[in-house]
Amino acid sequence: MFLYTPSLTSYKRLATREVKIGDLLLGNFHPIRVQTMTTTDTMDTLATVEQSIRCIEAGAELVRITAPSRKEAENLQLIKDELRKRGYNTPLVADIHFTPNAAEIAARIVEKVRVNPGNYVDKKKFEQIEYTDAEYLEEIERIRERFTPLVKICKEYGTAMRIGTNHGSLSDRIMSRYGDTAIGMVESAMEFLRIARAESFHNIVLSMKSSNPQVMVQAYRLLIQQMMQEFSECYPLHLGVTEAGDGEDGRVKSAAGIGTLLEDGIGDTIRVSLTEDPEFEIPVCRDLVKRYQQPVTNAGGTVPPVQQLPYSPFEYKRRHTFAVDNIGDKQVPVVVADLSKLEQITPASLESVGYKYDAATDKWNISDAAADYIFTSHQLPAFELPGTLKVIVYPEVWKEASLTAAGEQKYFPLFMDSGFAAAEAKSDRLNFVMIDCFNDATTLNDYTYFDSIANDPSVVLCLSSTNRNAMQSVRRMFVELMQRGVHNPVVLMTDSNWQTPDEHLIHYSTECGALLLDGMGDGICLGMSRESYRLQTASFKQGTTGRNYVSNQTPEQFINNTAFSILQATRTRISKTEYISCPSCGRTLFDLQETTAKIRSVTNHLKGVKIAIMGCIVNGPGEMADADFGYVGSGPGKITLYKGKEIVKRNVDSEVAVQELINLLKENDAWVEPA
Ligand code: SF4
Repeated sequence: MFLYTPSLTSYKRLATREVKIGDLLLGNFHPIRVQTMTTTDTMDTLATVEQSIRCIEAGAELVRITAPSRKEAENLQLIKDELRKRGYNTPLVADIHFTPNAAEIAARIVEKVRVNPGNYVDKKKFEQIEYTDAEYLEEIERIRERFTPLVKICKEYGTAMRIGTNHGSLSDRIMSRYGDTAIGMVESAMEFLRIARAESFHNIVLSMKSSNPQVMVQAYRLLIQQMMQEFSECYPLHLGVTEAGDGEDGRVKSAAGIGTLLEDGIGDTIRVSLTEDPEFEIPVCRDLVKRYQQPVTNAGGTVPPVQQLPYSPFEYKRRHTFAVDNIGDKQVPVVVADLSKLEQITPASLESVGYKYDAATDKWNISDAAADYIFTSHQLPAFELPGTLKVIVYPEVWKEASLTAAGEQKYFPLFMDSGFAAAEAKSDRLNFVMIDCFNDATTLNDYTYFDSIANDPSVVLCLSSTNRNAMQSVRRMFVELMQRGVHNPVVLMTDSNWQTPDEHLIHYSTECGALLLDGMGDGICLGMSRESYRLQTASFKQGTTGRNYVSNQTPEQFINNTAFSILQATRTRISKTEYISCPSCGRTLFDLQETTAKIRSVTNHLKGVKIAIMGCIVNGPGEMADADFGYVGSGPGKITLYKGKEIVKRNVDSEVAVQELINLLKENDAWVEPA
């Protein structure tokens, strides 16, 4: 049976059908297309045209515009005419929820319509309904009747269609039968796809979005498997993580989800949903895609094929490991901060990685995003370190440090692959062993030294790869470990040779995210090449590191924050408040960017609390996924507050809504006073 990717060991695109959207070809190995969606009021023709142009000039190859009702659908004609008049022929996509009549108008005007199978025919009332099989089939017939006219219009006008499932807006019918699951998402789209195929309509793209990258990745994989099983072919896939938020977190979350799939050759078009102006989404998309535009060659080492996968790629299960000190087993993944490029490590250096020394009280203040280990290579810091922090050094330095009882508890050696077996002196408690997985010179036969370290209760493996297919090489090593019954914990070591902070973010999130989302990794250590480090340091000193979220960060701080963001995005370690904020669109009823910033500024100390900030009451509550609290626009100047899916304060004046949200957090014991 086809698993979900053409190759688990090298980059290979998944074959998909070719789809035509205006003059744009998508799928069938055409370049991965990048797209975005406008946030203006669709009735404001000029504003929508101008924003579309900003997106197109930034590189958008498709622009989506919301059409909540007939009048907006009709106005798409004016928008399209004005864009064409100004020389922009980029295909337009109408975004449809709840309104088949708007879809039927839009399909005659624009090049593509997006329908959400969760709300095209069904309504969502969060009800559990028991269906017999016969009743369920009747429901499918009802969908067929309502959906087929749109399919026929698309066929007649040469319009493409996206069947875009969202995890947050599955219909009550799907939820009742399949639950809130990735399988439910797949079935929701498949019901519509089967109807379209029965009409011999194939100009279709599919998506399976969720704000949780774990669910999103599983749903796309399952969808591919289902399509191959049922039709022996795949339709092109549009990738995205919904409500990813803004800034660094939004980028990391998007890259972890989208990048994981792209690494496996999955995805024909992508949209990064940020709570920022839509043109800012495009550079992130381009950074994600350009990783696959370079000539793809193995750097020499061939990664051995996987005969049988010893884990399920369709459900999250952390690889079974034993604990070595505070690494592995059920403990959250640790963060190792690489301080090896600092000329001298001082107490101030530790501020970058979450430890702030207060001379007045002679105490260290430790943040929620404080690294668990620092790697200092040949240096022994010449001051008393915070109690919880441990240090990784090279073996010869470790020997010196471990001469004292305190040093023995604080310092641990890092060995190079077979060096551990050959070493005379080792820690009784914790040894790190570096392995470059399937690089230029190695094959499986070169890992015989495994036998000497496998299941040694003091060994934590540090896996990295200099192979061009680095993620696949490390994943292949995990497969080997599982098949050989090796249960040592693993720290993922990822270096970046990229140049800009955005490129680094995407690189780290993709390479580590793809493994963490499959339950692989008990720790994470990010690094930079000398040249990248020099560039980041220079920009920091000039105070021009680029976008706001990374300005004024030293390389160490940037890397440490990114490591915690990746763990948060993959839901493997929660160290901060989680924001699920929609990117906004023509339905949005308040300034979403400003409001998100305001809410973030007063709640960003609430570790682990999930707060959704959604632009409209039509889609917002459904799309909030698993948020603990929701702040949803419900009319001009009005906000409705939710606890989970339940309305608790309706139509609150927006002037006082943030304070009311704080009150709600307090009433539910989710509030603590900021330090
Ligand atoms: S939730 Fe946000 S992006 Fe989605 S339809 Fe409403 S305003 Fe638009």
